[in-house]
Amino acid sequence: MKAAVMHGARDIRTVTVPDPVLESHGVIIKVNACGVCGSDLHVYKRNGQEGTIFGHEFSGDVVEVGAQVKGITPGMRVTAVGFKPCGKCFWCAQGKWHRCSDMALLGYQFPGAMAEYVHVPFAALGRSVFPLPDELTYEDAASVEPLSISYFSVNRAQPKENESIAVIGLGVIGLYAIQLLKSMGVSMIVASGHRPSRLEAAKICGADIIIDAVKDDAVKAAMEATAKMGVNTVVECAGTQVTFDQSVAMARGGGKIMMVGIYEEALAWDPLPVIAKNLSLIGCLGGNFPASIELLKSGKVNAKPLITHRFSLDQAAEAFKVQLQDPSAIKVMIKP
Ligand SMILES: [Zn+2]
Ligand SMILES: [Zn+2]
Repeated sequence: MKAAVMHGARDIRTVTVPDPVLESHGVIIKVNACGVCGSDLHVYKRNGQEGTIFGHEFSGDVVEVGAQVKGITPGMRVTAVGFKPCGKCFWCAQGKWHRCSDMALLGYQFPGAMAEYVHVPFAALGRSVFPLPDELTYEDAASVEPLSISYFSVNRAQPKENESIAVIGLGVIGLYAIQLLKSMGVSMIVASGHRPSRLEAAKICGADIIIDAVKDDAVKAAMEATAKMGVNTVVECAGTQVTFDQSVAMARGGGKIMMVGIYEEALAWDPLPVIAKNLSLIGCLGGNFPASIELLKSGKVNAKPLITHRFSLDQAAEAFKVQLQDPSAIKVMIKP
């Protein structure tokens, strides 16, 4: 089959690779749509991951089902998550492999869905493989994974309607967070980002105050929007020193900072303002596929305005360049 394979830093090539081999606990999915993710770009920019087939935000049709798998049948339209527990750690030894401390992930440590076919190991209906309601297109379904990260983080913040919430970093995770906050009736959503197309998207997603962080002082603007009080919660989706410092500065006393963005560099930070303002720094890594499928089905969240570019599998190299560099790109989809 054809697959997009990483050959070195910023070097993706579409080549022929062996077809995936069905394991008794797995399923093989014919891929219809696969998103290029910010996490993929972190790896893409560096050397040392040669041979990686990316792609963990995907959907398609089940074509083969392992003998031990129950309830999943060929022809099902699905999205899925893929992981392989290590089988050796403390948790695996107790049979609690979902808690494995050394989990291998589909699209990183083993081949992902930027290919014609993908093998999803440990396939379990409703746990790792999720059938799609008719309302969801394949592209909607390939958006479930990033949406689920936003859902997990926003849900963890437990925002109230009368609160003010800032979302910093307007990639898809931040933009879905805005849609979710809007659907929950949060009265003031402040969005801060860089690229004009994403500032525009933040408005469409429901942000009340849009801060162009290139031109404006994000902290000053957030303080002005909240009568100098600061925001109740910051959903920090950028993962940089600057945006971390902004989050601490714009959170009001007793506020929360939801740490969602993945940091490429370690932070240098002064804990004093965090202590003085009684802030809570809350790490967020998790998802919820069923809730996210439901949100798309109900129309409370809409993936369509965020999908800006589509490429064939042969154009995978171009897809990565656009996702990384094109100022108009929000979510780039590969359509094998
Ligand atoms: Zn992702
Ligand atoms: Zn383990």
